[in-house]
Amino acid sequence: MSVCPEDRNIRQALNRDVHVLRLGHRPGRDRRITTHVALVARAFGARTFFLADVSDPTITRSISKVISRWGGSYFQIHDNVDPLSVIREFRGRGACIVHLTMYGLPITKVIDDISSRCREILVIVGAEKVERIFYEISDYNVAIGAQPHSEVSALAIFLDRLWKGIELELCFHDAKYYIIPSAKNKVVRKVE
Ligand code: SAM
Repeated sequence: MSVCPEDRNIRQALNRDVHVLRLGHRPGRDRRITTHVALVARAFGARTFFLADVSDPTITRSISKVISRWGGSYFQIHDNVDPLSVIREFRGRGACIVHLTMYGLPITKVIDDISSRCREILVIVGAEKVERIFYEISDYNVAIGAQPHSEVSALAIFLDRLWKGIELELCFHDAKYYIIPSAKNKVVRKVE
């Protein structure tokens, strides 16, 4: 049995494939925030999470646990990837490369262009310092406000602006557990 309504396939309504590339992860120090970037990617409709240059099995393990309980087995995680090779591969198949940075152009100015031009998107988020090459290689350097905050909030807001909130209705057909919304209580059901 699936817990998702049959009449509305939100996965189809998210009418482009989005993938997330996380740069600059420092195992130990960034584990929690990188896990949160991956959780936002999955929950807000992306299909793939790439972790650049390092392998960190604790991240892969915690996302896999979330997927096994709450669904979304189509969501792929690849760690220790060469970021420039990933970018070139996506570029080669016609995807847009969007780098989130406070130094970029305001999201309000570029989101319509991105929405109309990009059928597939690779979103890049950094950590402390992002090398110049990523600014140059990207089709769009996009600012979510011109103040420093976090890769987690930047990614969430970017995906929400891209999909105009539809992604919040995303339902995972392969979930083992689901939530009954409640004003006061924590109501979780197991799929029969
Ligand atoms: N100096 C950084 C920058 O270029 O945005 C802020 C570093 S922040 C600790 C880590 C990551 O969060 C950045 O690489 C970027 O992907 C994202 N980020 C932080 N603030 C942002 C903003 N205002 N707009 C877009 N992305 C942001």
